[in-house]
Amino acid sequence: MQTVSLEQEINPWEAQAARFDFAAQKLNLDEGIWKVLRYPSREIIVHIPVMMDNGSIEVFTGFRVQHSIARGPGKGGIRYSPDVTLDEVRALASWMTWKCAVVNIPFGGAKGGVICDPKAMSIGELERMTRRYTSELIEFIGPEKDVPAPDINTNEQVMAWIMDTYSMHMRQTVTAVVTGKPLNIGGSRGRREATGRGIAVVCDEALRYLNMQREGCRVIIQGFGNVGSNAAKLMMEKGYKILGVAEYDGGLYNSNGIDIHLLLEYRQRNGTVLGFKGAEAANSSDLLVADCDILIPAATENVITSRNADRIKARIVCEGANGPTTAVADEILGDKKVFIIPDILANAGGVTASYFEWVQDRQGYFWKEAVVNEQLESILTESFGDVVRYAEAHAVNNRIAAYMLAIDRVAFTIKQRGIYA
Ligand code: GLU
Repeated sequence: MQTVSLEQEINPWEAQAARFDFAAQKLNLDEGIWKVLRYPSREIIVHIPVMMDNGSIEVFTGFRVQHSIARGPGKGGIRYSPDVTLDEVRALASWMTWKCAVVNIPFGGAKGGVICDPKAMSIGELERMTRRYTSELIEFIGPEKDVPAPDINTNEQVMAWIMDTYSMHMRQTVTAVVTGKPLNIGGSRGRREATGRGIAVVCDEALRYLNMQREGCRVIIQGFGNVGSNAAKLMMEKGYKILGVAEYDGGLYNSNGIDIHLLLEYRQRNGTVLGFKGAEAANSSDLLVADCDILIPAATENVITSRNADRIKARIVCEGANGPTTAVADEILGDKKVFIIPDILANAGGVTASYFEWVQDRQGYFWKEAVVNEQLESILTESFGDVVRYAEAHAVNNRIAAYMLAIDRVAFTIKQRGIYA
């Protein structure tokens, strides 16, 4: 195993590049195409002044990175967080390229981020920051150029502000400029739950593939935001037993399974999962290494690292978050024969439903929720099959298989389109 420092290990850009290089080498990727895809095609940095509630001016730094637009417009979320970095956004943008290619939807990959602490900002400050960020990017985004969506700490309301700001500049309502919008202004039914639903679908597929039972299958979920909470709810309804929920400030454990409906009600009332009576309090880092069948990291990057990978007991790791496992941890989990459902497949339900939203906005015709869910399930089931078959055929793990499949699809398109001179 290559020795890398912890700092290098947890740099998401390095994590992405390590997998990309390995997969590209396995594919015998043309050197020129390798150079095209190794780095993002465009990186935008903006410094946005915002009038704060107390009358002072604050300047926030924001990014939008477009990794590839070979297969279609850039696509990917925008995150608000104090520790957003350009390297992180670069990595997330390239993961979007691979993710869209794995599920074979007609988008490239992009990602945005603003360095800010949304928990310390008022609604008005967030709105003004979002609108100014959007207007700084006005010529770079659009339904045919680059289509943002929610990510960590951004939601339907933020998407509504982006849509409105873009529309004001265009002098007409342009709903298809972002996805993950509220239902009444061009959002799609099923989009909010889509990432969690996708996770449930690929877990079902993994159990079938590994000949394991769903009823009573023991699951631990790290992160109880949009992705984790929806996955937990849908999976409990399907018969999985949710043993543990780990949040950034503490966790919950119940060996008989946590009633997620009651937990969601509790959180709605109290703003936290902590103190819920239907489970015991537990330490979040202990939950990651507790005995279970499926571990779902559904929060941020770098949750499974060289520091805890050897203690993971799950048979399956299903990556709800982007980049939760470092490249070094991958090797350790590989030696332990842990079955990984990689992020670019596991959490692709969100962007797949975003694709449906973009299609519906452009059609001006909105689908029933059952249609969205059915199409989502069929795309994810097929993609899961593509990845595991690719892994078997090339004797690589699921993550490398997913990268190879994606890189191959993007490379093919670049060759077909040719290089514009
Ligand atoms: N932020 C989500 C992701 O990482 C969704 C992106 C989208 O819907 O465009 O996949």
